[in-house]
Amino acid sequence: VTRRRGSPELSTVSQLRRRLAQDEQTQQPKSFLDWSLRVPEPKGELDFDRFPFQRELYADHEDPDIVVKKCTQIGISAWAVRWAMFYADVLGVTVLYVFPHQRQLMDFADTRIATIIRNSPYLRSRTLEAAVQNKMLKQIGTGVMYLRGSESVADLQSVDADVLVLDENDLLDQRNIPDAERRLGASALGLIRRLGVPSLPGFGIAQLYAESDSRRWHVRCGSCGERQPVTWHANVDIERCLRVCRRCRKPLDVSVGEWVAEFPDRDVRGYHVSRLIVPGLDVKQLVRRSRQTSPDEVAAFHNKDLGEEYSPADSRLTPEVIANAQRDYSCPTSYDGGALVTMGADVASVRNLNVRISLHREDGTKSALFIGEVESFDYLPMLMEDYHVHVAAIDGQPEHRLALAFAARYSGRVFLVHYRDAGMGDAITVDYPNAQISADRTVAIDRTLYGIRKQRNLLPTPLPPNYAEHLQAAARVIDEDARGRRRAVYRKLGADDYLHAEAYDDLARYAWDLSQEIQRIQQPTYVLLEDYIDLPRSNLGGYLHEDSHEWDNGETDALDIDEEALADEIALRKKIIEHAFR
Ligand SMILES: [Zn+2]
Repeated sequence: VTRRRGSPELSTVSQLRRRLAQDEQTQQPKSFLDWSLRVPEPKGELDFDRFPFQRELYADHEDPDIVVKKCTQIGISAWAVRWAMFYADVLGVTVLYVFPHQRQLMDFADTRIATIIRNSPYLRSRTLEAAVQNKMLKQIGTGVMYLRGSESVADLQSVDADVLVLDENDLLDQRNIPDAERRLGASALGLIRRLGVPSLPGFGIAQLYAESDSRRWHVRCGSCGERQPVTWHANVDIERCLRVCRRCRKPLDVSVGEWVAEFPDRDVRGYHVSRLIVPGLDVKQLVRRSRQTSPDEVAAFHNKDLGEEYSPADSRLTPEVIANAQRDYSCPTSYDGGALVTMGADVASVRNLNVRISLHREDGTKSALFIGEVESFDYLPMLMEDYHVHVAAIDGQPEHRLALAFAARYSGRVFLVHYRDAGMGDAITVDYPNAQISADRTVAIDRTLYGIRKQRNLLPTPLPPNYAEHLQAAARVIDEDARGRRRAVYRKLGADDYLHAEAYDDLARYAWDLSQEIQRIQQPTYVLLEDYIDLPRSNLGGYLHEDSHEWDNGETDALDIDEEALADEIALRKKIIEHAFR
Protein backbone atom coordinates (compact mmCIF):
# COMPACT_ATOMS: atom_id res chain seq x y z
CA VAL A 1 0.00 0.00 0.00
CA THR A 2 1.36 3.40 -0.95
CA ARG A 3 1.38 5.59 2.11
CA ARG A 4 -0.14 8.98 1.57
CA ARG A 5 0.16 10.28 5.06
CA GLY A 6 2.28 13.21 3.95
CA SER A 7 0.01 14.39 1.17
CA PRO A 8 -2.15 17.48 1.74
CA GLU A 9 -5.79 17.01 2.68
CA LEU A 10 -7.92 16.08 -0.28
CA SER A 11 -10.65 18.57 -0.54
CA THR A 12 -12.68 17.56 -3.55
CA VAL A 13 -14.28 14.40 -4.77
CA SER A 14 -12.66 14.80 -8.19
CA GLN A 15 -9.20 14.88 -6.62
CA LEU A 16 -10.05 11.73 -4.77
CA ARG A 17 -11.40 10.06 -7.87
CA ARG A 18 -8.19 10.87 -9.74
CA ARG A 19 -6.15 9.38 -6.95
CA LEU A 20 -8.34 6.30 -6.87
CA ALA A 21 -7.92 5.86 -10.59
CA GLN A 22 -4.13 5.82 -10.08
CA ASP A 23 -4.49 3.38 -7.23
CA GLU A 24 -6.50 1.05 -9.36
CA GLN A 25 -3.53 0.61 -11.68
CA THR A 26 -1.21 -0.35 -8.92
CA GLN A 27 -2.58 -1.64 -5.69
CA GLN A 28 -6.19 -2.48 -5.66
CA PRO A 29 -6.95 -6.05 -4.63
CA LYS A 30 -8.92 -7.73 -7.36
CA SER A 31 -10.45 -10.67 -5.60
CA PHE A 32 -13.00 -10.48 -2.82
CA LEU A 33 -10.79 -12.69 -0.65
CA ASP A 34 -7.67 -10.52 -1.09
CA TRP A 35 -9.72 -7.44 -0.43
CA SER A 36 -11.29 -8.95 2.69
CA LEU A 37 -7.90 -9.86 4.09
CA ARG A 38 -7.06 -6.15 4.11
CA VAL A 39 -10.27 -5.21 5.90
CA PRO A 40 -10.36 -6.46 9.48
CA GLU A 41 -13.65 -6.57 11.33
CA PRO A 42 -13.94 -5.01 14.80
CA LYS A 43 -13.97 -8.62 16.07
CA GLY A 44 -10.82 -9.57 14.21
CA GLU A 45 -9.36 -10.56 10.88
CA LEU A 46 -10.60 -13.31 8.64
CA ASP A 47 -9.84 -16.59 10.35
CA PHE A 48 -10.55 -19.72 8.32
CA ASP A 49 -9.00 -21.91 11.02
CA ARG A 50 -11.68 -20.80 13.40
CA PHE A 51 -14.45 -20.72 10.79
CA PRO A 52 -13.35 -23.09 7.97
CA PHE A 53 -16.86 -23.13 6.46
CA GLN A 54 -16.53 -19.42 5.59
CA ARG A 55 -13.92 -20.08 2.91
CA GLU A 56 -16.45 -20.85 0.17
CA LEU A 57 -18.39 -17.67 0.89
CA TYR A 58 -15.26 -15.57 0.34
CA ALA A 59 -14.11 -17.54 -2.70
CA ASP A 60 -16.73 -16.26 -5.10
CA HIS A 61 -18.54 -12.96 -5.07
CA GLU A 62 -20.50 -12.85 -8.32
CA ASP A 63 -23.29 -15.29 -7.62
CA PRO A 64 -26.58 -13.48 -8.29
CA ASP A 65 -28.53 -14.69 -5.27
CA ILE A 66 -27.28 -16.19 -2.00
CA VAL A 67 -29.34 -17.10 1.06
CA VAL A 68 -27.74 -17.79 4.45
CA LYS A 69 -29.79 -19.34 7.23
CA LYS A 70 -27.59 -18.92 10.26
CA CYS A 71 -27.03 -19.04 13.98
CA THR A 72 -25.62 -15.99 15.75
CA GLN A 73 -21.98 -14.93 16.16
CA ILE A 74 -20.25 -16.93 13.45
CA GLY A 75 -19.03 -14.15 11.17
CA ILE A 76 -21.80 -14.22 8.57
CA SER A 77 -22.85 -10.60 9.10
CA ALA A 78 -19.19 -9.64 8.81
CA TRP A 79 -19.08 -11.47 5.48
CA ALA A 80 -22.15 -9.60 4.20
CA VAL A 81 -20.79 -6.21 5.28
CA ARG A 82 -17.42 -6.89 3.62
CA TRP A 83 -19.15 -8.08 0.47
CA ALA A 84 -21.23 -4.92 0.30
CA MET A 85 -18.24 -2.65 0.93
CA PHE A 86 -16.16 -4.56 -1.62
CA TYR A 87 -18.74 -3.86 -4.32
CA ALA A 88 -18.83 -0.17 -3.46
CA ASP A 89 -15.06 0.15 -3.26
CA VAL A 90 -13.76 -2.01 -6.07
CA LEU A 91 -16.61 -2.04 -8.57
CA GLY A 92 -17.78 1.47 -7.78
CA VAL A 93 -21.43 0.52 -7.71
CA THR A 94 -24.35 1.55 -5.53
CA VAL A 95 -25.06 -0.73 -2.60
CA LEU A 96 -28.30 -0.85 -0.64
CA TYR A 97 -27.95 -2.42 2.82
CA VAL A 98 -31.28 -2.98 4.57
CA PHE A 99 -31.78 -3.53 8.29
CA PRO A 100 -35.02 -4.10 10.20
CA HIS A 101 -35.10 -0.71 11.89
CA GLN A 102 -33.60 2.73 11.50
CA ARG A 103 -32.47 2.52 15.13
CA GLN A 104 -30.18 -0.48 14.46
CA LEU A 105 -28.84 1.12 11.35
CA MET A 106 -27.50 4.08 13.33
CA ASP A 107 -25.50 1.72 15.58
CA PHE A 108 -24.42 -0.23 12.54
CA ALA A 109 -23.15 2.88 10.78
CA ASP A 110 -21.26 4.15 13.82
CA THR A 111 -19.84 1.09 15.46
CA ARG A 112 -19.45 -1.23 12.52
CA ILE A 113 -18.78 0.54 9.27
CA ALA A 114 -16.95 3.52 10.75
CA THR A 115 -14.76 1.15 12.78
CA ILE A 116 -14.02 -1.05 9.79
CA ILE A 117 -12.87 1.99 7.82
CA ARG A 118 -10.82 3.34 10.73
CA ASN A 119 -9.09 -0.02 11.31
CA SER A 120 -8.12 -0.56 7.68
CA PRO A 121 -5.27 1.59 6.35
CA TYR A 122 -6.30 0.46 2.88
CA LEU A 123 -9.92 1.64 3.25
CA ARG A 124 -8.82 4.87 4.95
CA SER A 125 -6.78 5.68 1.88
CA ARG A 126 -9.84 5.10 -0.31
CA THR A 127 -12.43 6.96 1.68
CA LEU A 128 -13.19 10.62 2.04
CA GLU A 129 -13.09 11.69 5.67
CA ALA A 130 -16.06 13.97 5.91
CA ALA A 131 -17.65 14.92 2.63
CA VAL A 132 -20.22 12.18 2.09
CA GLN A 133 -20.10 10.34 5.39
CA ASN A 134 -23.35 10.31 7.21
CA LYS A 135 -25.32 7.57 8.83
CA MET A 136 -27.47 6.72 5.85
CA LEU A 137 -24.91 7.15 3.12
CA LYS A 138 -21.27 6.04 3.07
CA GLN A 139 -18.82 6.80 0.30
CA ILE A 140 -16.38 3.90 -0.05
CA GLY A 141 -13.81 3.93 -2.82
CA THR A 142 -15.56 4.95 -6.01
CA GLY A 143 -18.97 3.66 -4.96
CA VAL A 144 -21.56 4.43 -2.35
CA MET A 145 -23.40 2.42 0.24
CA TYR A 146 -26.88 3.36 1.36
CA LEU A 147 -28.04 2.14 4.77
CA ARG A 148 -31.77 1.86 5.24
CA GLY A 149 -34.31 0.64 7.80
CA SER A 150 -37.00 -1.65 6.39
CA GLU A 151 -39.88 0.25 8.00
CA SER A 152 -39.74 3.20 5.62
CA VAL A 153 -40.87 2.59 2.03
CA ALA A 154 -39.99 6.19 1.16
CA ASP A 155 -36.37 5.69 2.30
CA LEU A 156 -36.11 2.44 0.34
CA GLN A 157 -37.56 3.95 -2.80
CA SER A 158 -35.07 6.80 -2.85
CA VAL A 159 -32.24 4.47 -3.92
CA ASP A 160 -31.54 2.70 -7.21
CA ALA A 161 -29.08 0.00 -6.29
CA ASP A 162 -26.80 -2.47 -8.09
CA VAL A 163 -26.41 -4.84 -5.19
CA LEU A 164 -28.65 -5.45 -2.22
CA VAL A 165 -28.14 -6.95 1.24
CA LEU A 166 -31.15 -7.90 3.35
CA ASP A 167 -29.79 -8.42 6.86
CA GLU A 168 -31.75 -10.00 9.74
CA ASN A 169 -34.22 -11.10 7.11
CA ASP A 170 -36.98 -12.40 9.39
CA LEU A 171 -37.13 -9.17 11.39
CA LEU A 172 -37.50 -6.97 8.30
CA ASP A 173 -40.89 -5.41 7.66
CA GLN A 174 -42.00 -8.17 5.28
CA ARG A 175 -44.43 -5.89 3.45
CA ASN A 176 -41.55 -3.73 2.24
CA ILE A 177 -39.15 -6.45 1.06
CA PRO A 178 -40.59 -6.39 -2.50
CA ASP A 179 -39.98 -2.62 -2.59
CA ALA A 180 -36.35 -3.19 -1.62
CA GLU A 181 -35.96 -5.91 -4.27
CA ARG A 182 -37.41 -3.65 -6.96
CA ARG A 183 -34.59 -1.16 -6.34
CA LEU A 184 -32.33 -3.58 -8.25
CA GLY A 185 -34.59 -3.52 -11.30
CA ALA A 186 -32.62 -1.01 -13.34
CA SER A 187 -29.20 -2.52 -12.68
CA ALA A 188 -27.32 -4.85 -15.04
CA LEU A 189 -25.66 -6.34 -11.97
CA GLY A 190 -28.61 -6.93 -9.65
CA LEU A 191 -26.97 -9.13 -7.00
CA ILE A 192 -28.68 -9.96 -3.74
CA ARG A 193 -27.65 -11.45 -0.39
CA ARG A 194 -30.22 -12.46 2.21
CA LEU A 195 -29.15 -13.57 5.65
CA GLY A 196 -30.64 -14.07 9.04
CA VAL A 197 -31.49 -16.20 12.01
CA PRO A 198 -34.54 -18.30 11.11
CA SER A 199 -37.73 -18.01 13.12
CA LEU A 200 -40.80 -20.01 12.07
CA PRO A 201 -41.07 -22.97 9.69
CA GLY A 202 -42.24 -21.88 6.26
CA PHE A 203 -41.41 -18.24 6.94
CA GLY A 204 -38.68 -15.84 5.81
CA ILE A 205 -35.13 -17.17 5.65
CA ALA A 206 -36.24 -20.75 6.44
CA GLN A 207 -38.54 -20.71 3.44
CA LEU A 208 -35.91 -19.08 1.20
CA TYR A 209 -33.36 -21.69 2.24
CA ALA A 210 -35.85 -24.50 1.58
CA GLU A 211 -36.33 -23.15 -1.95
CA SER A 212 -32.55 -22.81 -2.55
CA ASP A 213 -30.03 -25.52 -3.44
CA SER A 214 -29.83 -26.13 0.35
CA ARG A 215 -26.14 -26.57 1.13
CA ARG A 216 -25.01 -28.24 4.33
CA TRP A 217 -21.49 -28.64 5.68
CA HIS A 218 -20.49 -32.29 5.23
CA VAL A 219 -17.54 -33.85 7.05
CA ARG A 220 -15.91 -37.28 6.78
CA CYS A 221 -15.47 -39.45 9.84
CA GLY A 222 -11.77 -40.12 10.49
CA SER A 223 -12.58 -43.53 11.93
CA CYS A 224 -15.11 -45.15 9.62
CA GLY A 225 -15.07 -42.83 6.61
CA GLU A 226 -18.79 -41.98 6.71
CA ARG A 227 -19.54 -38.67 4.97
CA GLN A 228 -22.28 -36.74 6.80
CA PRO A 229 -23.81 -33.39 7.65
CA VAL A 230 -23.64 -32.39 11.33
CA THR A 231 -26.97 -32.30 13.15
CA TRP A 232 -28.06 -32.06 16.77
CA HIS A 233 -29.90 -35.36 16.85
CA ALA A 234 -27.47 -37.52 14.86
CA ASN A 235 -24.13 -36.09 15.97
CA VAL A 236 -24.22 -34.78 19.53
CA ASP A 237 -23.44 -37.24 22.32
CA ILE A 238 -25.22 -35.51 25.19
CA GLU A 239 -23.62 -37.70 27.89
CA ARG A 240 -20.03 -37.06 26.84
CA CYS A 241 -20.67 -33.55 25.48
CA LEU A 242 -18.95 -34.45 22.21
CA ARG A 243 -19.68 -34.34 18.51
CA VAL A 244 -19.53 -37.91 17.22
CA CYS A 245 -19.91 -39.80 13.95
CA ARG A 246 -23.52 -40.75 13.29
CA ARG A 247 -22.41 -44.26 12.30
CA CYS A 248 -19.55 -45.39 14.57
CA ARG A 249 -20.09 -42.83 17.42
CA LYS A 250 -16.35 -41.97 17.49
CA PRO A 251 -15.44 -38.27 18.00
CA LEU A 252 -15.94 -36.23 14.83
CA ASP A 253 -13.64 -33.47 13.53
CA VAL A 254 -15.71 -30.80 11.79
CA SER A 255 -12.83 -28.56 10.69
CA VAL A 256 -12.30 -30.32 7.36
CA GLY A 257 -15.41 -30.48 5.28
CA GLU A 258 -17.23 -29.20 2.24
CA TRP A 259 -20.52 -27.64 1.36
CA VAL A 260 -22.86 -30.13 -0.36
CA ALA A 261 -26.04 -29.03 -2.08
CA GLU A 262 -29.14 -31.11 -1.59
CA PHE A 263 -30.67 -29.71 -4.80
CA PRO A 264 -27.70 -28.87 -7.07
CA ASP A 265 -29.95 -27.91 -10.00
CA ARG A 266 -31.53 -24.94 -8.28
CA ASP A 267 -30.43 -21.38 -9.11
CA VAL A 268 -30.26 -19.81 -5.68
CA ARG A 269 -27.36 -20.80 -3.46
CA GLY A 270 -28.38 -21.46 0.13
CA TYR A 271 -26.23 -22.12 3.20
CA HIS A 272 -27.26 -23.42 6.57
CA VAL A 273 -24.71 -22.34 9.17
CA SER A 274 -25.23 -23.89 12.60
CA ARG A 275 -23.01 -23.59 15.63
CA LEU A 276 -22.36 -27.36 15.32
CA ILE A 277 -19.94 -26.79 12.42
CA VAL A 278 -17.67 -24.42 14.36
CA PRO A 279 -14.58 -26.47 15.35
CA GLY A 280 -14.02 -24.66 18.67
CA LEU A 281 -17.60 -25.05 19.87
CA ASP A 282 -18.16 -25.39 23.61
CA VAL A 283 -20.41 -28.48 23.35
CA LYS A 284 -21.00 -28.60 27.09
CA GLN A 285 -22.48 -25.10 27.08
CA LEU A 286 -24.66 -25.94 24.09
CA VAL A 287 -25.97 -29.10 25.80
CA ARG A 288 -26.79 -26.96 28.84
CA ARG A 289 -28.76 -24.54 26.68
CA SER A 290 -30.61 -27.44 25.04
CA ARG A 291 -32.01 -28.37 28.47
CA GLN A 292 -33.63 -25.00 29.13
CA THR A 293 -37.39 -25.16 29.30
CA SER A 294 -38.94 -21.68 29.05
CA PRO A 295 -40.59 -21.12 25.67
CA ASP A 296 -38.27 -18.17 24.87
CA GLU A 297 -35.17 -20.20 25.69
CA VAL A 298 -36.27 -23.25 23.71
CA ALA A 299 -36.94 -21.06 20.66
CA ALA A 300 -33.58 -19.28 21.13
CA PHE A 301 -31.72 -22.62 21.25
CA HIS A 302 -33.26 -23.76 17.96
CA ASN A 303 -33.06 -20.41 16.18
CA LYS A 304 -29.88 -18.80 17.48
CA ASP A 305 -27.71 -21.86 18.24
CA LEU A 306 -28.79 -24.45 15.70
CA GLY A 307 -29.87 -21.90 13.08
CA GLU A 308 -33.07 -23.91 12.67
CA GLU A 309 -36.67 -22.74 12.35
CA TYR A 310 -38.88 -23.63 15.29
CA SER A 311 -42.58 -23.45 16.00
CA PRO A 312 -43.80 -23.53 19.61
CA ALA A 313 -46.78 -25.86 20.02
CA ASP A 314 -49.36 -23.14 20.64
CA SER A 315 -48.20 -20.48 18.20
CA ARG A 316 -50.70 -21.53 15.52
CA LEU A 317 -53.77 -23.70 15.05
CA THR A 318 -53.18 -27.37 14.39
CA PRO A 319 -55.30 -29.71 12.22
CA GLU A 320 -56.40 -31.45 15.46
CA VAL A 321 -57.68 -28.24 17.03
CA ILE A 322 -59.65 -27.45 13.87
CA ALA A 323 -61.05 -30.98 13.74
CA ASN A 324 -62.12 -30.71 17.39
CA ALA A 325 -64.15 -27.58 16.59
CA GLN A 326 -66.06 -29.40 13.85
CA ARG A 327 -69.60 -30.69 14.44
CA ASP A 328 -71.74 -33.04 12.43
CA TYR A 329 -73.68 -30.62 10.25
CA SER A 330 -73.45 -29.03 6.84
CA CYS A 331 -74.29 -25.45 5.92
CA PRO A 332 -77.88 -24.69 4.84
CA THR A 333 -78.64 -22.82 1.61
CA SER A 334 -80.64 -20.17 3.47
CA TYR A 335 -81.78 -19.23 6.97
CA ASP A 336 -84.83 -17.47 8.35
CA GLY A 337 -84.96 -18.64 11.93
CA GLY A 338 -84.80 -15.28 13.67
CA ALA A 339 -81.57 -15.75 15.64
CA LEU A 340 -78.73 -13.24 15.40
CA VAL A 341 -76.80 -13.68 12.14
CA THR A 342 -73.44 -12.04 11.33
CA MET A 343 -71.23 -12.00 8.25
CA GLY A 344 -67.52 -11.40 7.66
CA ALA A 345 -66.03 -10.87 4.18
CA ASP A 346 -62.34 -10.76 3.31
CA VAL A 347 -61.49 -9.11 -0.01
CA ALA A 348 -58.42 -10.51 -1.76
CA SER A 349 -59.45 -8.76 -4.99
CA VAL A 350 -62.59 -7.59 -6.74
CA ARG A 351 -63.09 -11.13 -8.04
CA ASN A 352 -62.12 -13.06 -4.95
CA LEU A 353 -64.00 -12.66 -1.68
CA ASN A 354 -64.02 -15.13 1.21
CA VAL A 355 -67.17 -15.08 3.31
CA ARG A 356 -68.22 -16.51 6.66
CA ILE A 357 -71.83 -16.24 7.89
CA SER A 358 -72.68 -17.26 11.46
CA LEU A 359 -75.72 -18.14 13.50
CA HIS A 360 -75.29 -17.08 17.14
CA ARG A 361 -76.78 -19.12 19.97
CA GLU A 362 -77.89 -18.07 23.43
CA ASP A 363 -75.11 -20.17 25.02
CA GLY A 364 -72.42 -18.00 23.37
CA THR A 365 -71.48 -20.46 20.63
CA LYS A 366 -71.87 -19.86 16.94
CA SER A 367 -72.12 -22.19 13.97
CA ALA A 368 -71.64 -21.60 10.26
CA LEU A 369 -74.51 -20.88 7.88
CA PHE A 370 -72.13 -20.27 5.01
CA ILE A 371 -68.37 -20.55 4.44
CA GLY A 372 -67.14 -20.04 0.92
CA GLU A 373 -65.66 -17.94 -1.84
CA VAL A 374 -67.72 -15.65 -4.06
CA GLU A 375 -66.61 -14.11 -7.33
CA SER A 376 -67.79 -10.55 -6.91
CA PHE A 377 -69.31 -7.95 -4.62
CA ASP A 378 -72.67 -8.59 -6.33
CA TYR A 379 -73.08 -11.79 -4.30
CA LEU A 380 -72.91 -10.02 -0.95
CA PRO A 381 -76.47 -8.53 -1.03
CA MET A 382 -77.81 -11.96 -2.04
CA LEU A 383 -76.09 -13.55 0.94
CA MET A 384 -77.37 -10.76 3.23
CA GLU A 385 -80.92 -11.56 2.15
CA ASP A 386 -80.77 -15.35 1.84
CA TYR A 387 -79.43 -15.72 5.37
CA HIS A 388 -81.13 -12.71 6.98
CA VAL A 389 -77.86 -11.20 8.13
CA HIS A 390 -78.22 -8.57 10.88
CA VAL A 391 -74.73 -7.14 10.80
CA ALA A 392 -71.68 -7.60 8.57
CA ALA A 393 -68.03 -6.53 8.61
CA ILE A 394 -65.98 -6.31 5.42
CA ASP A 395 -62.35 -5.64 4.55
CA GLY A 396 -61.93 -1.88 3.92
CA GLN A 397 -59.09 -2.62 1.45
CA PRO A 398 -58.13 -3.11 -1.34
CA GLU A 399 -61.54 -2.38 -2.92
CA HIS A 400 -62.39 0.56 -0.73
CA ARG A 401 -65.04 2.10 -2.99
CA LEU A 402 -66.93 -1.15 -3.55
CA ALA A 403 -66.83 -1.85 0.17
CA LEU A 404 -68.16 1.65 0.87
CA ALA A 405 -70.98 1.20 -1.62
CA PHE A 406 -71.95 -2.08 0.03
CA ALA A 407 -71.92 -0.42 3.47
CA ALA A 408 -74.06 2.46 2.18
CA ARG A 409 -76.67 0.04 0.87
CA TYR A 410 -77.16 -1.46 4.35
CA SER A 411 -76.77 1.68 6.38
CA GLY A 412 -75.77 0.96 9.96
CA ARG A 413 -75.54 -2.79 9.40
CA VAL A 414 -72.31 -3.11 7.41
CA PHE A 415 -68.94 -1.98 8.78
CA LEU A 416 -65.62 -1.49 7.00
CA VAL A 417 -62.68 -3.01 8.89
CA HIS A 418 -59.18 -1.54 9.07
CA TYR A 419 -56.39 -3.33 10.89
CA ARG A 420 -53.87 -1.44 12.93
CA ASP A 421 -50.36 -2.64 13.83
CA ALA A 422 -50.05 -4.46 17.12
CA GLY A 423 -49.86 -2.32 20.22
CA MET A 424 -50.98 0.94 18.58
CA GLY A 425 -53.96 2.42 20.42
CA ASP A 426 -57.09 0.62 21.59
CA ALA A 427 -57.71 -3.02 20.78
CA ILE A 428 -60.98 -2.50 18.89
CA THR A 429 -62.95 0.68 18.26
CA VAL A 430 -66.26 1.01 16.46
CA ASP A 431 -67.16 4.29 14.77
CA TYR A 432 -70.93 3.92 14.28
CA PRO A 433 -71.64 7.16 12.39
CA ASN A 434 -68.99 6.29 9.79
CA ALA A 435 -69.56 2.53 9.86
CA GLN A 436 -65.90 1.76 10.54
CA ILE A 437 -64.21 -0.77 12.79
CA SER A 438 -60.57 -0.28 13.63
CA ALA A 439 -58.90 -3.33 15.14
CA ASP A 440 -55.45 -4.25 16.42
CA ARG A 441 -54.49 -7.04 14.02
CA THR A 442 -53.01 -9.23 16.74
CA VAL A 443 -56.08 -8.85 18.96
CA ALA A 444 -58.46 -9.63 16.07
CA ILE A 445 -56.59 -12.85 15.19
CA ASP A 446 -56.19 -13.79 18.88
CA ARG A 447 -59.98 -13.57 19.33
CA THR A 448 -60.61 -15.63 16.20
CA LEU A 449 -58.22 -18.45 17.10
CA TYR A 450 -59.49 -18.43 20.70
CA GLY A 451 -63.04 -19.01 19.45
CA ILE A 452 -61.92 -22.13 17.58
CA ARG A 453 -59.64 -23.42 20.34
CA LYS A 454 -62.42 -23.04 22.93
CA GLN A 455 -65.01 -24.56 20.55
CA ARG A 456 -67.21 -21.50 20.60
CA ASN A 457 -66.98 -21.26 16.84
CA LEU A 458 -68.39 -24.63 15.75
CA LEU A 459 -67.39 -25.57 12.23
CA PRO A 460 -69.34 -27.75 9.79
CA THR A 461 -68.04 -31.16 8.85
CA PRO A 462 -67.44 -30.66 5.18
CA LEU A 463 -65.07 -27.66 5.21
CA PRO A 464 -64.39 -25.82 1.94
CA PRO A 465 -61.05 -26.47 0.18
CA ASN A 466 -58.11 -24.57 1.73
CA TYR A 467 -60.13 -23.47 4.77
CA ALA A 468 -58.02 -25.43 7.29
CA GLU A 469 -54.75 -24.30 5.61
CA HIS A 470 -55.81 -20.64 5.75
CA LEU A 471 -56.59 -20.91 9.45
CA GLN A 472 -53.15 -22.37 10.14
CA ALA A 473 -51.37 -19.67 8.16
CA ALA A 474 -50.93 -17.29 11.10
CA ALA A 475 -48.23 -17.93 13.71
CA ARG A 476 -47.93 -15.83 16.83
CA VAL A 477 -44.39 -14.63 17.61
CA ILE A 478 -42.80 -11.99 19.78
CA ASP A 479 -41.39 -9.15 17.72
CA GLU A 480 -39.71 -5.85 18.40
CA ASP A 481 -41.23 -2.66 17.06
CA ALA A 482 -39.25 0.31 15.72
CA ARG A 483 -38.65 1.56 19.26
CA GLY A 484 -37.39 -1.79 20.50
CA ARG A 485 -40.53 -2.69 22.46
CA ARG A 486 -41.50 -6.35 22.48
CA ARG A 487 -44.99 -7.18 21.28
CA ALA A 488 -46.94 -10.15 19.95
CA VAL A 489 -47.56 -10.22 16.20
CA TYR A 490 -48.86 -12.82 13.77
CA ARG A 491 -46.61 -13.82 10.92
CA LYS A 492 -48.37 -14.70 7.72
CA LEU A 493 -47.15 -18.10 6.51
CA GLY A 494 -49.35 -18.42 3.43
CA ALA A 495 -52.78 -17.60 2.03
CA ASP A 496 -55.02 -16.62 4.96
CA ASP A 497 -58.24 -15.23 3.43
CA TYR A 498 -60.63 -17.48 5.39
CA LEU A 499 -58.86 -16.57 8.61
CA HIS A 500 -59.67 -12.90 8.02
CA ALA A 501 -63.23 -13.67 6.95
CA GLU A 502 -63.55 -15.34 10.38
CA ALA A 503 -61.92 -12.36 12.11
CA TYR A 504 -64.33 -9.92 10.40
CA ASP A 505 -67.30 -12.11 11.33
CA ASP A 506 -66.11 -11.93 14.95
CA LEU A 507 -65.76 -8.13 14.68
CA ALA A 508 -69.31 -7.89 13.27
CA ARG A 509 -70.55 -9.64 16.41
CA TYR A 510 -68.43 -7.29 18.54
CA ALA A 511 -70.00 -4.24 16.87
CA TRP A 512 -73.47 -5.72 17.37
CA ASP A 513 -72.91 -6.41 21.09
CA LEU A 514 -71.54 -2.93 21.66
CA SER A 515 -74.46 -1.28 19.87
CA GLN A 516 -76.91 -3.29 22.00
CA GLU A 517 -75.12 -2.14 25.11
CA ILE A 518 -75.22 1.49 23.98
CA GLN A 519 -78.95 1.25 23.29
CA ARG A 520 -79.48 -0.28 26.68
CA ILE A 521 -77.75 2.49 28.58
CA GLN A 522 -79.39 5.18 26.46
CA GLN A 523 -82.87 3.96 27.38
CA PRO A 524 -84.20 6.36 29.98
CA THR A 525 -85.12 4.29 33.00
CA TYR A 526 -86.63 5.72 36.15
CA VAL A 527 -85.53 4.21 39.41
CA LEU A 528 -86.04 5.24 42.99
CA LEU A 529 -82.89 6.60 44.54
CA GLU A 530 -83.59 4.54 47.63
CA ASP A 531 -83.22 1.36 45.54
CA TYR A 532 -79.61 2.29 44.94
CA ILE A 533 -78.60 3.80 48.26
CA ASP A 534 -79.74 3.17 51.73
CA LEU A 535 -81.60 6.45 52.22
CA PRO A 536 -84.60 6.69 54.47
CA ARG A 537 -87.45 8.71 52.94
CA SER A 538 -87.75 12.19 54.22
CA ASN A 539 -90.64 12.68 56.51
CA LEU A 540 -90.74 16.39 55.79
CA GLY A 541 -94.15 17.80 56.37
CA GLY A 542 -95.11 15.21 58.99
CA TYR A 543 -94.55 15.00 62.65
CA LEU A 544 -91.19 13.91 63.89
CA HIS A 545 -92.73 11.16 65.97
CA GLU A 546 -96.14 9.74 65.85
CA ASP A 547 -97.20 11.19 69.15
CA SER A 548 -95.07 14.35 69.03
CA HIS A 549 -96.12 17.76 67.83
CA GLU A 550 -92.71 18.74 66.55
CA TRP A 551 -92.50 19.07 62.77
CA ASP A 552 -89.87 16.98 61.00
CA ASN A 553 -87.35 19.28 59.25
CA GLY A 554 -86.18 16.51 56.86
CA GLU A 555 -82.73 16.07 58.36
CA THR A 556 -81.60 12.55 58.89
CA ASP A 557 -78.44 10.96 60.19
CA ALA A 558 -79.23 7.49 58.86
CA LEU A 559 -77.64 8.15 55.46
CA ASP A 560 -75.60 5.05 54.61
CA ILE A 561 -74.51 5.17 51.00
CA ASP A 562 -72.48 2.31 49.51
CA GLU A 563 -70.21 4.83 47.86
CA GLU A 564 -67.93 2.20 46.35
CA ALA A 565 -70.73 0.39 44.54
CA LEU A 566 -72.15 3.69 43.30
CA ALA A 567 -68.75 4.83 42.02
CA ASP A 568 -68.25 1.50 40.25
CA GLU A 569 -71.60 1.75 38.53
CA ILE A 570 -70.93 5.33 37.40
CA ALA A 571 -67.41 4.46 36.17
CA LEU A 572 -68.69 1.47 34.19
CA ARG A 573 -71.35 3.52 32.43
CA LYS A 574 -68.90 6.30 31.67
CA LYS A 575 -66.49 3.80 30.17
CA ILE A 576 -69.11 2.22 27.93
CA ILE A 577 -70.25 5.63 26.69
CA GLU A 578 -66.68 6.83 26.07
CA HIS A 579 -65.83 3.64 24.25
CA ALA A 580 -68.87 3.86 22.03
CA PHE A 581 -68.36 7.46 20.94
CA ARG A 582 -64.62 7.64 20.66
ZN1 LIG B 1 -17.55 -43.07 11.91
